[in-house]
Amino acid sequence: MKGSSDLIQSPGTRAEDLARAADDFGHIVGSRPLGVLAARSADAVRDLVAFAGEHGLPVSARGGGQALYGQGQADGGYVVDMGALNEVRCVPEDRTLVAGAGAPWREVVRAALAEGLVPPVLPDHLGSSVGGVLSTGGFGAASHRYGAATDWVREVEVVTGTGELLTCSPERRPDLFDAVLAGLGQCALIVGATLRLVPAPDRVRRYRLYHHSPGTYFTDQRRLARDARFSQVAGQARPALGGTWDYMIEAVAPHPGQLPYEDELLIGDLDHDRDTEEIEDLSYAEYLHRMDRDERMLRATGEWDRPHPWLTLLLPEEAAAALVPPMLAEEAQQGLRACGTVQLRPLAGHTLRTPLLRRPPGELLCLLSLMRTAPPEHPDTVRRLVAANRALYERATAVGGVLHPGGALPMTPADWRAHFGPVWSQLARAKDRFDPYAVLTRGYRLWP
Ligand SMILES: Cc1cc2nc3c(=O)[nH]c(=O)nc-3n(C[C@H](O)[C@H](O)[C@H](O)COP(=O)(O)OP(=O)(O)OC[C@H]3O[C@@H](n4cnc5c(N)ncnc54)[C@H](O)[C@@H]3O)c2cc1C
Repeated sequence: MKGSSDLIQSPGTRAEDLARAADDFGHIVGSRPLGVLAARSADAVRDLVAFAGEHGLPVSARGGGQALYGQGQADGGYVVDMGALNEVRCVPEDRTLVAGAGAPWREVVRAALAEGLVPPVLPDHLGSSVGGVLSTGGFGAASHRYGAATDWVREVEVVTGTGELLTCSPERRPDLFDAVLAGLGQCALIVGATLRLVPAPDRVRRYRLYHHSPGTYFTDQRRLARDARFSQVAGQARPALGGTWDYMIEAVAPHPGQLPYEDELLIGDLDHDRDTEEIEDLSYAEYLHRMDRDERMLRATGEWDRPHPWLTLLLPEEAAAALVPPMLAEEAQQGLRACGTVQLRPLAGHTLRTPLLRRPPGELLCLLSLMRTAPPEHPDTVRRLVAANRALYERATAVGGVLHPGGALPMTPADWRAHFGPVWSQLARAKDRFDPYAVLTRGYRLWP
């Protein structure tokens, strides 16, 4: 292989690089690679993957390192750290932005907002990488109107498992394009992407609307998912006094700049508690960076570095309304009251067009995320929560739910086959063609 000796002697084989690549945000499973390539060019990625393919060694990309269960690790192989492939270039006249796969979404936001533009769908946390999010799908608060981040990709540059550097789009090599977006890194590693942009508002008005009963919450969530009055809608279940839960809708609308603002038009027909509603005007940049403060607090308390047995599911909306309240009352989920966040967000089926991004049938959907930490000194607690994730996943799939890949959940090849359902054979064909040595992104354990 061209440069194989460079690879073995590269600084990427330093103990701290190997240790970092053997871990992720989940801090639950760990497997050590032989080496870490700090990719400085797409050609370097191509050379490494070609070498790994020849020798049957696993290769995984690492972007922001936010995987939760080893999905980006490469046991006994190579991790390609995409961090240095982070260039971002906005092309305002074309309303697009070209990003290196390792660019964090906060860089995308910075470059796009400087031109008054923004990707229609952004993940809440802007520290994940462009490549990492496009390989899983990417949901955000605007997903009820605009689908997933993958639905707004014009073109991707990839390295296939055979070590070919190729550009693909809906017009050019559409089979590869469809195999890459939300394709869990199975057929190619993304080295760059061209994202479509839309005009960004200057300011937004944010409403936090509290519901004391899940019934009124889900009715309002359903109403907001059906109409376009808000540009962003997200929700949370929050612990309340007496062991119960409140439900909060966070809804955002562009601020037209005139006052008085017509709040009644937006929230007058909703069924929340009017005495506790919170209304706040923010710059759009402040809104998009809303998780930065949470991250600072979690880092300060140490929670950020603890194990994260998270689980995210897409549910038919009526299944969410039936499943979530009793689930939150269960013993296994009580830790969520002390250290965790329960996220709910409406999704609309027709907006989700990426073929490999699996979703339940129907139009009204709900994304449920259980985002929690576990004490590192209690591995039994982590095991118990991973088992609880598995039990909940099984209950969810029984009522039409679908996993959002990337959670802390052991999955078998049979589970993945069921997950991909009608598109499994399409993925398997693409795998045979683009990664015939099956070296890419083995951390998901898709294949026997
Ligand atoms: C705090 C937090 C908040 C989150 N919020 C959201 C959210 O709002 N919406 C949402 O949809 N998700 C969210 N996620 C999930 C997260 O976006 C995904 O797990 C995403 O895949 C992470 O990408 P990464 O680059 O940070 O992680 P990594 O661990 O680096 O990568 C994750 C997976 O993607 C693969 N991968 C990385 N780069 C590439 C590449 N260039 N080509 C091919 N495969 C690649 C890795 O091999 C691995 O399998 C959140 C996660 C965290 C920890």
